[in-house]
Amino acid sequence: MTKVLFAAAEAAPFYKTGGLGDVSLALPRALKADGVEIRVVIPYYEKLFPEKYRAQVKDLLNFTVKVGDKSQYCGIKTLQLDDLDYYLIDNQEYFGREGLYGYWDDGERFAFFQMAICEMLERVDYIPDVLHLNDWHTAFIPVLLKEKYYWIKAYRKLKTLLTIHNMQFQGIYDPVILDSLFKIGWQTFNEDGIAFYDQVNFLKAGINFADAVNTVSPSYAQEIQTPQFGERLDGVLRANQAKLTGIMNGIDMQLYDPATDPALTANYSASDLAPKAKDKAALQKAVGLPEADVPVFAVVSRLTTQKGMDLLLDALDDFLKKQAVQVIVLGTGDPALEHAFEIYQLAYPDKIAPQIKFDVNLAQQIYAGSDSFLMPSAFEPSGLSQMMAMRYGTLPLVHLVGGLKDTVVPYNHYTGAGTGFGFEDYRPAVLRKMMTMAVECYTKHPKAWAKLQQQAMALDFGWGKSAKKYQHVYDTITS
Ligand code: ADP
Repeated sequence: MTKVLFAAAEAAPFYKTGGLGDVSLALPRALKADGVEIRVVIPYYEKLFPEKYRAQVKDLLNFTVKVGDKSQYCGIKTLQLDDLDYYLIDNQEYFGREGLYGYWDDGERFAFFQMAICEMLERVDYIPDVLHLNDWHTAFIPVLLKEKYYWIKAYRKLKTLLTIHNMQFQGIYDPVILDSLFKIGWQTFNEDGIAFYDQVNFLKAGINFADAVNTVSPSYAQEIQTPQFGERLDGVLRANQAKLTGIMNGIDMQLYDPATDPALTANYSASDLAPKAKDKAALQKAVGLPEADVPVFAVVSRLTTQKGMDLLLDALDDFLKKQAVQVIVLGTGDPALEHAFEIYQLAYPDKIAPQIKFDVNLAQQIYAGSDSFLMPSAFEPSGLSQMMAMRYGTLPLVHLVGGLKDTVVPYNHYTGAGTGFGFEDYRPAVLRKMMTMAVECYTKHPKAWAKLQQQAMALDFGWGKSAKKYQHVYDTITS
């Protein structure tokens, strides 16, 4: 049986800023349930670590990691949660911060993290067959294994899988770090290796040096091989096509279940949808909108252009003016976009209610209490929110790209088929038209709407199938 160590910069329920955090919880759990021997390693962001898990954290050991010429403390803590073992990498200077990312020294912080992982394996006596890496924060490890830790005999059979959750974040740094942080030579600093326009690119390093690479939906795996979606690495991806696959993310069907979700005012299921109306009323009240019988559109998202928030803002003006609707936007992100939603609120206080915050409870209430979930992403590696929405009988309205294309079946009003609404042409007018069609379907064709809800709620977004696909990749690289 394959032995795996899953390495990521964030994992729910400890810390999450987005989909990576959700996947780092649910995928290892699903693999473990399938009998895979798997453990997880993440940084120990002490200030952000939830109080309720603190008592379970134990000190295992500590050692020193050389970051360039500096000797840095590296504590390894452990924790067991629901049968899954975690290693938490502790260094106050690097991880004792108020946030997860976005610091001037992120390169050094995650250089440390990656070296700490490599140096930890022998000491904790857990040497996996596969190191499952996630995103740029851990993508440089295959290079370290080759260039820095090649002399450790126990690591010689170690294989690596890199999962790319978002091509936009790559970890690009001045090549001086090869010496000042990693103390490795320049052998790999070439275009077929880790060099990217005279810089070092962690993600590119992972793509070139990992034994296998995957993205989090089949469509995104194809799209990133084109200049439009490849974030300047499309050529590198095409060159590595043979080891690149797309495996659709799942969601935790137990955690996200309207029948049991404790965050809701009223629980409901596909066979008894009536209580959903109570969740809608409670939501309207909670965000200060009138309890009117109009379609409620919602957003739960990072407020960025990736998520199509600029497109939505463009589409909203005419839409809010002409339609009897409500729009709830939960998210934080680009201040200009946050502000733009707030400006709309001044003009249409009874129609739009931006909630500029990160609030997991409110997110659940929105999935349950709204009618349609807006996700007009410019690109979407996987997207989890649209699946959560469908699980809660809230019809997603999406730009048909990446994971959105792979999970949402757009409504066909001739056949009644579909699990949501979708558009292809990425223009505000097209989004507005689709939203108007959704309003029409909701108000004039309630039976068709109810059928779409049933079809959406009948889908299985669990990790079962995808966990098997990951095991297949593990088997392929280790055999
Ligand atoms: P991303 O690209 O951000 O990873 P995903 O759709 O894959 O997008 O995952 C986003 C996750 O983060 C979902 O679980 C969503 O509910 C959650 N989320 C995003 N913004 C917020 C917020 N402001 N408050 C609570 N949860 C949020």
